Amino acid sequence: MSYHGLDHFVGNTPLIRLNRISDLTGCEILGKAEFMNPGGSVKDRAALGIIRQAEKDGLLFPGSTIVEGTAGNTGIGLTIIGQARGYKSVIIIPETQAPEKIALLRALGAEVIPVPAKPYSDPDNYNHIARRLAAEKGWFWANQFDNLANRQAHFDTTGPEILAQTDGTVNAFVAAIGTGGTLAGTSLFLKSRNPNIATVCADPYGAAMWGWFTQKRLDLDDGDSFAEGIGQGRVTKNIEDLQVDKSYRIDDHTAISLIHQLLREEGLFLGLSSGINIGGALRYAQDHGPGKTIVTILCDTGQKYQSKLYNPEWLAENDLVP
Ligand code: PMP
Repeated sequence: MSYHGLDHFVGNTPLIRLNRISDLTGCEILGKAEFMNPGGSVKDRAALGIIRQAEKDGLLFPGSTIVEGTAGNTGIGLTIIGQARGYKSVIIIPETQAPEKIALLRALGAEVIPVPAKPYSDPDNYNHIARRLAAEKGWFWANQFDNLANRQAHFDTTGPEILAQTDGTVNAFVAAIGTGGTLAGTSLFLKSRNPNIATVCADPYGAAMWGWFTQKRLDLDDGDSFAEGIGQGRVTKNIEDLQVDKSYRIDDHTAISLIHQLLREEGLFLGLSSGINIGGALRYAQDHGPGKTIVTILCDTGQKYQSKLYNPEWLAENDLVP
């Protein structure tokens, strides 16, 4: 027997068949169970990749402090992986994010600084605050949006896992974009092995990625979304050279209905970005099926958003009853 510490258990997540929507569309719609990572989200992969690259570059050593602007999940990954190596973490998070994530980060030992939500163009946007703090204090800034170690982690792990788990039969990979690390890294790997595997972006309303990939237009589109961790308004370094074959906009009502349906029909308890992803996979299946194998990401669990997405009062107040 050989035994391993925590790092070893980031990735290698199961690929779960979403039975009802697969049967309905005649496609195999498969969800990569990223909520099963140690920190409970897809972002553990990026956190580990960024930390390992920084260690190689001599930027991190025991006693170092990592600072990051994050919607929460990257912060959770950086904090638990960092703890095991003797790093401290300081997390700058927009105060609009789910209180469950902020409480969890504090419980894990991060120093959490909630800040007002501001667009990237504002100097007080959470990412700029993290960058300035790093420069002032000599901390390591993870910089997940523009640090290519993020997408490299998906190129090295998520992509090869999906190819192996589908015996090479995957036809399309669907994901929403926060940093874009997941969509870009995974797709670049899959296309390097088979250029016919489609790269599909699922974008919430109020973001710019759908407009960017369909019309090379970068203004934020109409509408808004409660999905946390996705909804990008600029071309990050991680997606700069990404070729997207198909792009869909998925509204919150559709995504919320899907995650509630997945809970009732499959027992899967998911966050809203997973609903946006599944909405994209469903649209692709309707447009290109039957007979396709479509893989998407189940980013994190509903537990982190229970007070909103699974609270009947909140759903009613926001006109989002499934
Ligand atoms: N879903 C959730 C819940 C997230 O926290 C994130 C990361 N911000 C994403 C999706 C998007 O992943 P990526 O940053 O790789 O685009």
